Amino acid sequence: MTVTDTDEARITQLLRHDVEATLGPGHDDIVAENAERARLFVDEAERYTEMVVQEVQQYFHDCFVDTTWPECPFHHRHPLWLHDGHWTCEQEALHIAKLGELRASPRADGRYTVSPGRHRPLGG
Ligand SMILES: [Zn+2]
Repeated sequence: MTVTDTDEARITQLLRHDVEATLGPGHDDIVAENAERARLFVDEAERYTEMVVQEVQQYFHDCFVDTTWPECPFHHRHPLWLHDGHWTCEQEALHIAKLGELRASPRADGRYTVSPGRHRPLGG
């Protein structure tokens, strides 16, 4: 399965949502650039989604926009990672939210706390 324009539009929309829910607006270009560039490297839809997410996370981490994006609501010291289409706390093996459905509340220190409202065990 090749990566289509629809796949690119979909991941762009989902990831923009999750970025804006946590970091706020102003990062649309980063998501769009990575979604476009990843098509040069992968031509399988699921791998493509993973790569775009990884690349955007890498950017935020490396550029110190947010070194733990998206921050785990339980441990606050590590990012959530994408597994099976879900943002996942690897330490607890918990799915926190589906990609594109991340929710967060702003904190007094200007950061955010991801809502762990719908977490469930992996495979559950
Ligand atoms: Zn965690």
